[in-house]
Amino acid sequence: MNTPKPLRSERFPIIGMGFGILAWLVYGVFELFGLAVLPRMREAAYEYRAYDWRMSAVFLLVYAVAGAAAGLLAGVFLPKIRKLRNLNTANLVRAAATVSVSGVLLLNLLILRRDSPFSPSILVVTLILVIAACVGSAGSGSFARGCRPFTAAWLPCGLYLGCQWLADWSANGSHGSRVTIYGLLLIGLLGAVAWFAGRFTGSGGFPKASLTAVTAAAVVCCAVTAVLQPAPFTAPEAVKASAAGRPSVIIISLDTIRADHLSVYGYGRNTTPNLQKFAAESTVFTRGVASSDMTLPTHASLFTGLYASQHGAHFSAEHRMGAPLDTRFVTLAERLHKSGFWTGGAVANGGYLSVAFGLHRGFEYWDQRMPAAAMAPVGQQYLRGRFRDVAARFIPTSELDRVSRRGAEMNDAAFAALEQRPHDGRPVFLFVNYMDAHVPYLPPAPYDSMFPGKDPAFTENRYITTYLDVIAHDRKIGDREHAHLVSQYDGGIAYLDSQLGLFFDRLKAAGLYDNSLIVVLSDHGEALGERNCMDHGGMSLYEEQIHVPLLIKFPRSHSGAVVSAAVGTVDILPTVLDAVGLPIPKNAAGQSLAKPVTEEREVMSESFPGGRAYFTNTARFDRTYRSVVSASLKYIAPSMGRPELYNLREDPTETRNLFNPEEAQSKHAAEQLLAWSRTVTQRIPGPSKVDRETMERLRSLGYVGQ
Ligand SMILES: [Zn+2]
Repeated sequence: MNTPKPLRSERFPIIGMGFGILAWLVYGVFELFGLAVLPRMREAAYEYRAYDWRMSAVFLLVYAVAGAAAGLLAGVFLPKIRKLRNLNTANLVRAAATVSVSGVLLLNLLILRRDSPFSPSILVVTLILVIAACVGSAGSGSFARGCRPFTAAWLPCGLYLGCQWLADWSANGSHGSRVTIYGLLLIGLLGAVAWFAGRFTGSGGFPKASLTAVTAAAVVCCAVTAVLQPAPFTAPEAVKASAAGRPSVIIISLDTIRADHLSVYGYGRNTTPNLQKFAAESTVFTRGVASSDMTLPTHASLFTGLYASQHGAHFSAEHRMGAPLDTRFVTLAERLHKSGFWTGGAVANGGYLSVAFGLHRGFEYWDQRMPAAAMAPVGQQYLRGRFRDVAARFIPTSELDRVSRRGAEMNDAAFAALEQRPHDGRPVFLFVNYMDAHVPYLPPAPYDSMFPGKDPAFTENRYITTYLDVIAHDRKIGDREHAHLVSQYDGGIAYLDSQLGLFFDRLKAAGLYDNSLIVVLSDHGEALGERNCMDHGGMSLYEEQIHVPLLIKFPRSHSGAVVSAAVGTVDILPTVLDAVGLPIPKNAAGQSLAKPVTEEREVMSESFPGGRAYFTNTARFDRTYRSVVSASLKYIAPSMGRPELYNLREDPTETRNLFNPEEAQSKHAAEQLLAWSRTVTQRIPGPSKVDRETMERLRSLGYVGQ
């Protein structure tokens, strides 16, 4: 083998830049592969979570520039250090340029050490391996070539991915273990390829051939993410019954909207001008009670007419992330489909309303797609996650951070479903779920600055940090944090309302407004710092969590009405079936609101420990709550701790607990709830673990600790 000629010193900056770009691009390709390509490969039925290829291309460019800068510095300054003169300077420049990305990754690991899945021992092993690879690459011969630049850059990346897989393995049991072994093997294979690629990089000057190969890999990864797009699910139609003459049904579920933040319910800020117009020809229920404080049980109640303890789709000891709805419960969509309706759903909440939880049953068309991710929900272990946090201070990042489709996209999705349906005269059952007011509260401009209080530096990561701090330390949320959250939450509602206005216009244009039953409701509310709580789910049954809007426009009705009696999510199924002339099942817990509601009755609600609040290991969320609302009284019984009784008319924010075990009113409320609890509690069998894809979807929507 010929000994290469010594390189001239003026070539060192160029060599440094070449190897710097190479090493950083290797990391960029690994990052993109791990985020956007590997998930597609590891699950046969994986509904691909698309990554925005343009954003990925920007990141690759940023990494190339960072690598060029680091390599240039190495090439300019290293040869000037006298003490190093005896060593092979070209090798030193190559090694330094290569190690720049490893150094940044390791630094990031050290910063993350406190709250990351990477244990100290993994950190130490990574450190040793990277140092060995870097020291090796500073030498000469085939070992040195093998070490640089791929391997030194690859080691931290491969370990990042490997650790993530191991963490998922331990969380997902045996199903995950097979997947993880394949994943680790794949990472090992990539490592071997990196090693051999390094050996062929040579010890010459500018690494032209390697750079071309890595750039090609980057382009392929971007192209894969651009081409792979998820599609809605469609089920075969098998309808024999005729439903001609029945009105269509449209249910609009506004995720996470508490009634007291809507101007149609008297809020001081003008958040819902379009719902106010809709209210003029609808029945407005001023005391809507959600059956629970999170998406899964309330939507299951909506579709079954049963309380959470009856249908079982909620958090439990066996299902800390929630149990899927058991197949023995017949859903509203199944009933309507069987009776001759076309059934279609488009949901923004691709976590709890994904097919994994069974709420899509009965829908011929189900669109649960999530937006192409740009940056969120990327963990901080990836450098693009760090970059996002820095960028958020200078550029508006709401479009980059969003994790669910916006109202405008949901409108398009809903009408795409309507247009694609077979136009065979069947009435329509359309279900649309919007998520614009959900965490991480990212209304688009100008709605983000519609109400004062926005703090541009308050990123999703900052939300999570604040959340954990408030929850774990039972501390009061700061005034600035509170003002920011409320301004963005209200902005989200105002944006959503504007989209609802457009949705109604399009319904009118499609001839589906007048003769339809249109239900607008929210599945649950949201804590914005009350009682040192944030978010929702597994938390409490106070009004901020369960007092929700409910407006119903009956077919061919154009007069407004207001009902102040308590009604619940469980009433929707009986109402819909009644309005379209179908029988109401005998076991339904709710009652039809299509008939005048004149009498007060008891409406129940339940909250079960689980989800993000539970996983903070905070004792105050490790309990079940049940409540009953009856006229102006609300009684809340926790499985541990003192019961509470409030008079909502005099004390709407529930600050004065009237519970007194000696007193008749309290005794009566407790007996009512106890009697009801005895009739509904049952154990529902089901799969004990949520699969990894669903876990990822839930994580991206903020339901699982990051
Ligand atoms: Zn929800």
